[in-house]
This record gives sequence, structure tokens and C-alpha cells, in this order.
Amino acid sequence: MFADVIIDIQHEKLDKIFQYRIPERLEHEVEAGMAVVVPFGKGNRKTKGYVTALSKTCDYDISKVKEIADISRSGVEIEAKLIALAAWMKSNYGGTMLQSLKTVLPIKEKENIKVKKRLRLLIDRETGEKQLHYYLEKNQKARARLMAALLDDQLLDYELVRKKLNITATVIRALEEQHVLAVESEQVYRNPVHAENIQKKEIIYTQEQKRAIMRFCKDYENGIRKTYLLHGVTGSGKTEVYMEMIQSVVDKGKQAIVLIPEIALTYQTVMRFYRRFKDRVSVMNSRLSAGERYDQMMRAKAGEVDVMIGPRSALFTPFPNLGLIVIDEEHEPTYKSEQTPRYHARETALRRAQTEGASVVLGSATPSMEAMYRAKNGEYVLMEMKNRSKMQDPAEVYTVDMRKELKNGNRSILSEQLQRLMKERLEKKEQTMLFLNRRGYSGFVSCRECGHVIKCPHCDVSLSVHRDGKMRCHYCGYEQTHVKICPECGSDHIGEFRAGTQQIEEIVKTVFPQARVLRMDQDSTAAKDAHEKLLAKFARHEYDIMVGTQMVAKGLDFEDVTLVGVLGIDSLLFAQGFRAYETVFSLITQVVGRSGRAKDPGFAIIQTTDPDNPVLNLAAAQDYDAFFEQEIAYRKLGLYPPFCGLCVVGFSGPKEIEVARAAARFSALLGRQAAQQPDLPLRVLGPTPGNIEKINENYRYKLTIKCRADKRFRDLVRQTLGLYEQEKLPSKATVVVDMHSDGDI
Ligand code: ADP
Ligand code: ZN
Ligand code: ZN
Repeated sequence: MFADVIIDIQHEKLDKIFQYRIPERLEHEVEAGMAVVVPFGKGNRKTKGYVTALSKTCDYDISKVKEIADISRSGVEIEAKLIALAAWMKSNYGGTMLQSLKTVLPIKEKENIKVKKRLRLLIDRETGEKQLHYYLEKNQKARARLMAALLDDQLLDYELVRKKLNITATVIRALEEQHVLAVESEQVYRNPVHAENIQKKEIIYTQEQKRAIMRFCKDYENGIRKTYLLHGVTGSGKTEVYMEMIQSVVDKGKQAIVLIPEIALTYQTVMRFYRRFKDRVSVMNSRLSAGERYDQMMRAKAGEVDVMIGPRSALFTPFPNLGLIVIDEEHEPTYKSEQTPRYHARETALRRAQTEGASVVLGSATPSMEAMYRAKNGEYVLMEMKNRSKMQDPAEVYTVDMRKELKNGNRSILSEQLQRLMKERLEKKEQTMLFLNRRGYSGFVSCRECGHVIKCPHCDVSLSVHRDGKMRCHYCGYEQTHVKICPECGSDHIGEFRAGTQQIEEIVKTVFPQARVLRMDQDSTAAKDAHEKLLAKFARHEYDIMVGTQMVAKGLDFEDVTLVGVLGIDSLLFAQGFRAYETVFSLITQVVGRSGRAKDPGFAIIQTTDPDNPVLNLAAAQDYDAFFEQEIAYRKLGLYPPFCGLCVVGFSGPKEIEVARAAARFSALLGRQAAQQPDLPLRVLGPTPGNIEKINENYRYKLTIKCRADKRFRDLVRQTLGLYEQEKLPSKATVVVDMHSDGDI
């Protein structure tokens, strides 16, 4: 038996993996993830390494392969646990061990350590004063200035001396050579948020909050580790509940990870955690440099913080004694990685918690079908919070039929009712938010007159218009020519629906010239911190109306917002992908939850051409339970997750015909392999063009496979991939496999 061992996991060059022979006496002990002691380098220095994988064969000259000296017995280190997690991710999600390792291990890149330098006075006061006089006599002004400063304060910040005292490096070096001072350096961790003297806000928990907290704490106290699903309406006070749970874990000397989608990681949210946990909290976000991120990871490992907040990647914080993982907005698609390994943070968190004896709390106002299904099956503990914490009434929601608007002569994108309520808000000095679905108004074809949407006759999803002018189904590949006349009512008001935030901003400004309008989208918030700054301005009521993509809806708490308008939801309603309805429901819930957060009652308007759509009505009524029942039945019937796994194999390359051919070839090979195991249930859809057909001059195709995503299936896909690569087809296409897909590639 042989073992792959990485020696230095701290550095960028993780691709150095060495093979070692496992001596017979250790054969039954060595596993992936274990820390071992191995001879390394020319001098065979005894070095600690980590086993990343085991194999029966050796890729090198066997006579030169060294032997593992021993298993490191000094406790199970956090690295070993994370490497074991990486091994699980590789087997579950595919890709290479290195890709998984690079995902889970904190990696130090070169020259990342910010060194803080200081100057220390080496001579006593008396000598110092003499020296000062000497410099003054010689008219060495800079030296004198530095000397005087050092006499005031024997330890000076290097940067301060350089910038504030305006002293050059040459002068400092001269004094250093005269042994007047020493330059010391200290490695500093960079904490991205500075906890000023912030006060904890006292609140009295609601009954529902108390019940959830008690349930968790009692279990935790009794050593019971579970997965909890906290289903609480927006504003029910979930964050307060998380913090209380975290407190009880921290009180036991353990640490907690809080995952929050990046976009919801606002200053407001972060400050709440700081107020509670002071500088025992650290935050990880994509704006940190690689070096800063590494520092935060090291602080966590060294026990300097108890709570790490961050998006998906914060899951891999190397806490030595992890007690709890909280995943807020558990249903968010951003928890699924778009890069190999294509892991899902929820599933991976469950795995990590299980092996490290931690609990998991999933929170959402609109839990994913998967999570709620498991909760109802008793796999997770379900905790409900149905009321807003300040007992505000939920917003009144109206759906507006845009077909009627047209009939009544209103061709504007803003319905009459929405305009009336917006006007009222302006008069009352209250605020309005208009949300536009990000994928925005593109692709599908609908009739403005009757609302009819052109759909695939086989799949019940909308057809999309392609470059060649044809309309196609992304699921089954069905195509037809572009329609010019509505097949339902004969109107020629049919076409692709497109509008972006900029157009809507213009329209709003024209209708309400007196209003101060803020646009929030990827363009306007691209600059660093622009997002935060614009939100803060809106919070200070420097704007009356915000026009934004749904992205900005997350985690916002503005007291003056009493009206929310939802535009362009139809494109999502008819979007491809089995999650479309789930997305619509959660989006509307999220957005409506922004309205009427304080004393004044809130309103929400949903504009649609399909007002009878049951999903819209359930969303307007904010009836999650009814929605769940309906949606889960549909998933069962159509065989979608959680009732089956979905594996997507994506193909891409510069020549469309070759990419299509490669996909077809893979499909044939898969069919042949599967035929040898007739008892393995499997359904292959496609090949079809990818959801985005062309990216960077590369065409994309995909195969969608419905299956039970177990080891047998994964092996089957791996074998097929092997066969496919062996064939070395002349048609070159890059293949990616997403074992647990959401249907996109
Ligand atoms: P959620 O995460 O469920 O949307 P939050 O935890 O953000 O809810 O709470 C919404 C607002 O209500 C926050 O400003 C929070 O401080 C406040 N809040 C939460 N619980 C209470 C409570 N028991 N009493 C008073 N205010 C509360
Ligand atoms: Zn029509
Ligand atoms: Zn179809």
C-alpha cells in the first residue's frame, strides 16, 4: 500500500504531493486525512505530513519511494480533519484531490504578511539628550527630529516616523548603525473590522424565539448534536436566535461558523455580531485580500476568535473545536460552488459537523424543498417562528394584472396602482423600493395583450429565443420558428420582454421628476464599498426611491420603506429549471419582507401577466406551508430533487458542431455503461445547449442525468469519463461534471 502525502500545507504550492510506502505494521491504521511523520529531503529530516489519499500502486520508481516513519500521535489536528473533509468532497463532488485541498485549506501566498515595523530607542535618556545636542550642533535636522521623538516615546511606529515626521529610510538606517535605535518588526494580523466601543442592545425575546433557543440549548447541554431548521418569517428575529445559540456554544469553549450569502453580509448585520461578541468575531468576505483571509484563518486556528462570519468559503475556518455551524438563508443558490469541486455548502457543512461533533442550524424564511422535506421526515429538528418580532402586521400584497393595464391604455412598465402608491409615499415622506429580477426580462416571449407565454409542448417551460432566430427548449431541445402573432389571441403585441434597471430608473425619473432616485445594480455598486455607502445613504433617507435588482433585497432593514414593487417576475416564473417556482416564492417573500418593518404599515405590488398563477398567489398570501405541499408534490411527480439526484455533464469548446458531437458521444458511452447495470435507475435528458449557450467564444452543451447520487452512480460517471478521455476524439471539448447539480451549466 502507498500513501500520497503533502508536506507543507501552508504554501501556495499545494501541488507537491509525495508518495510514501506504508509499512506493514501501519497498514490498517493509515487513512486519508491522518497526520504522519515521514523522512523528507536529502537529509531525510523527520517531517510532519498529511495523508491525502491511499493507493495500491506506485507512480514512481519503487526502489526510491521512502517509507512512512510513524503516525503522528499528537492528537487529531484541525488540518487532518479538513483534509479528511477534502477527501469526502472529492469523492462526492468529483474533481481532483488538489482542487479539494485548495478549497478547504488556508493557503499562504508569498509576500502576504504585512509586517509592522517599529523603532526602539536603545540608549538611555542621558546619552540620548547628548546625542540630540550633537545632531542640533551639526545641523542634522532630521536626525534631531527623530531623536527628540524617541526621547518622548521610546517605541515609535515606523510608518508614522516616515510619514508624519518626514524622515527618510537613510536617516533611520544611519541611527540604526550608530546603535541609537533598533528596527523591530512584528507580524500583525489584520482584523478587517474594528470593534469600537459598541454597546449591546437589550431585547426581550418573543415566545417563539425563546422556544427555539431553549430547544437548541437544552440539546446542546445534553451533548445532543443535531441539524435544526429554523423556519422564521422575515423579521421574526432569526439573527437574534442565532446569536443566543452561538453564545451558549462559545460559553462551552467551542467555536461557531456563521454562513451568510455575501450580498447579505452588510455592515448592519456584521455590527450586530460585533455588538454581541466584540473582537471575538472575525469576518471573511471577498473584498479581503488573500493575505488578509489567511490572517483571519490563522487567528481562528490560534483561538483568537470564537465566531467566523462569511460566505460559503468561511465553512472551512480551521477552528480547533467547532461547536456550531449556522447557515442563514439556507435556500440561497450561492451556497453551491460554481467551480470544481462543485460542492454545496449545506451538504458539506453537515458532513463537517458530523465528523467534528458540531450542530448545524439552517435558517430561512423560505427553506429549500430539500431542507423542509428532511425536516418533515424528522431528519432535522423543525423550529418555526411565524410572527414578526416587533409584532408588525405583514405587508399587504397585491398582484396587478399587466394585461388589463394594457387594455386600459397604460403602456408604461409601472402599473397605475403602483404609480398611485408611489405618489402617496412621496407625499408622506416614506420610501419605495422597486425590484427587478436580475436575470431580467430576457429570453422568453410573451404576449402583452393576453399574457400568453410560448412554451415547450413537452416540458412546460418557456422557449427562449436564440441567435439564429429560432425558439428552443433548454430541456429537451425542441425547437420552432419565432412567432410573430400570439397563437392564443392573435395580437401582434408579442415579443421578447427586456428592460434593465437603467431603463426603469429613467422611467421613474420621468414620472416623478421631484423624486430622488437611487439605482442599485452590479454597475452602480461595482466600486469598492459602493454598495455599503449607497445603502447607508438610502437608510438616511437621502433618496425616496430605490430601483434595484433582487440582489439588494437581502438583509436590509429600512424603517421608512413602506412600499415595494416587484417588476419582471414573469421571466422567472417561466424560467427553465426545476427551481423556478422555489426561486419566485422566496424572492417575493424576501422582497415583500422589506416593506413596513417599523410602525407604518407596508404594501407590496407584484406586477405580472399571469395573475392566476398559483405560485404568485401563494407568495402574495405568504403561505409557505401551502407552497411547500404543492411544490413537493410536483417534484415527486416530475422526479426532481429531493426525490432524485441531478447530475449535469457540461461540454464546451470553440466549435459548436464538435461540442454537440462530444456530448452525443459521451451520452452513447454512458448508455453503454449503464446497460451493463440494468438495475441502476437512470434517466438521461439531452444533449441540449447549455443555459448560456456561448461564453467567451465557447459553445456549451449539457447532459442532464436523473439518478440516485450514490457511489455506484458516481463510479459509473467516472468510468464513462475515463472511456471518453481514452477515445481522444478529434472533436475537442472540455468536460465538466456537476454531480449534485441545480440544473444549470
Ligand atoms: P430575521 O433575521 O428573522 O429577518 P432579525 O433578527 O434581522 O430577523 O430581526 C429583525 C429586527 O428585529 C432587527 O432589527 C432585530 O434587532 C429586531 N428584533 C429581533 N428580535 C427582537 C425582539 N425580541 N424584540 C425586539 N426587537 C427584535
Ligand atoms: Zn395573446
Ligand atoms: Zn422541451
